[in-house]
Amino acid sequence: MLSLVITSLLIIGLVTIWFFTDQNKQYHEERLQRKERAIKTEMTYFSKEVELQEDMDVVIKEFEEEVFRLASVHQLEINVFNTSGEILVAARPDSVHSQYIEKRVPESAISDLVMMNRIIIPEQEGSRKYLSDYTNLYNENDERIAILNIPYLQDTSVNQQDLEAFLGSIGVVYLFIFLGGIGLTFLLSRSITRNLTELGGRMQKVNLNERNEPFDWKSDDEIGKLVNAFNTMLNKLEESRQELAKTERESAWREMARQVAHEIKNPLTPIKLSVQHLQATANYDDEVWREKFKRTMATIIQQIDSLSNIATEFSDFAKMPQAKAEVISLNEAVRAAAELYADLAFELVTEVPDQTINSFVDPEQLGRVMNNLIKNAKQAGSDTQIPRMRVCLKKVGETAEIIVEDNGSGIADDFKDKIFRPNFTTKSSGMGLGLSICKQIIESAGGSISFESELGIGTTFKVTLPAVKP
Ligand code: ADP
Repeated sequence: MLSLVITSLLIIGLVTIWFFTDQNKQYHEERLQRKERAIKTEMTYFSKEVELQEDMDVVIKEFEEEVFRLASVHQLEINVFNTSGEILVAARPDSVHSQYIEKRVPESAISDLVMMNRIIIPEQEGSRKYLSDYTNLYNENDERIAILNIPYLQDTSVNQQDLEAFLGSIGVVYLFIFLGGIGLTFLLSRSITRNLTELGGRMQKVNLNERNEPFDWKSDDEIGKLVNAFNTMLNKLEESRQELAKTERESAWREMARQVAHEIKNPLTPIKLSVQHLQATANYDDEVWREKFKRTMATIIQQIDSLSNIATEFSDFAKMPQAKAEVISLNEAVRAAAELYADLAFELVTEVPDQTINSFVDPEQLGRVMNNLIKNAKQAGSDTQIPRMRVCLKKVGETAEIIVEDNGSGIADDFKDKIFRPNFTTKSSGMGLGLSICKQIIESAGGSISFESELGIGTTFKVTLPAVKP
């Protein structure tokens, strides 16, 4: 807009200058013609009376006074030359005497004037450029007696003033238009960019992993169209996100089913072998056989327990019952979970503050998380000489922190980003579902779970939960 205003100002300025110059030229041309005609008429009036004679220059000089009068009336320079081109009278508008000027009619003009009555030629005197009008003066017998010359200097000063005044006034008008333009441009661009900035902000909030609410845009302007296109894209994104989630779920379940089948098959082989062996060697009277029978039964029961564990974990993962959250004392929950392991053969330090820390969480699920973390810590310490564990609860700002720290085997860097995945395990008997369930429970309670670990030194799991007032 601003460049439009500036360009139109320039164009109007240029057109105005051109128009003024043109008008000025036309006016001066007409003025020259008018004056030239008037002067010539009067001069002819005098020249008519002159007889062609020897001493022509002296006769012509007698008209000097008349020539001065004409120069003064018409405010023009008038020169009179003899027919050979020498100056006789040089009248200037503001003087009463002939001025000495070194001027001759150009040779080319003299010869032209023999043929023609009048010629106009451009002349230059120093830096002054002008048009010079040469006309023959005749007597009554049509004899050439002298040459009348009117150098015509265009007076551009008046015209310059007019032009400046005009340009000045339109300049003021344009200054206002320009300022108005700036204001308007500012407002317009702000209203456009505000919408775009808002749109940009909303686009930034689009999360590819979640459902995104479509934008609502009331106006049906260009941005409205953009928003519509974007909403269509969001819909498609949502569709493909659901599709992807479905595929992911299916492949996870397939993988899970494969794992479970594998885990279930494992104990079944020793069971089958043991039973077959018993069948083959069955002898109820033999003391040794009965002893073996007992041991085999114990193994079978152990394997069945293992199978049942797998089935329980799997169904836990599959079901994940709806959490029944309530405000509970974390002090109690942590203490109770630690106590379960108190009599085991490792050093367990429990640090629970006197001040009660409450949180809104399903107590049963929290118990499951604590059990899993402590059980993992215990298993990680199975090869450590003096296994130690520390279970600690504290309040940091508005959140409660539960720490389970061990000095066990630690987690290799390669595994660090996998341990929360369902079915990742490094244990021969593990299902790899524990931590995945823990993460789900803690995150649905509005908390988070993280860990730090160093191979061969130990692992620290940190659970944070929002603390609530009792
Ligand atoms: P599982 O105990 O059935 O293997 P989890 O999900 O509880 O399943 O744990 C996944 C894996 O994370 C474990 O197999 C183990 O390699 C690693 N892990 C978990 N806790 C610890 C720990 N405290 N120290 C070392 N490794 C751990």
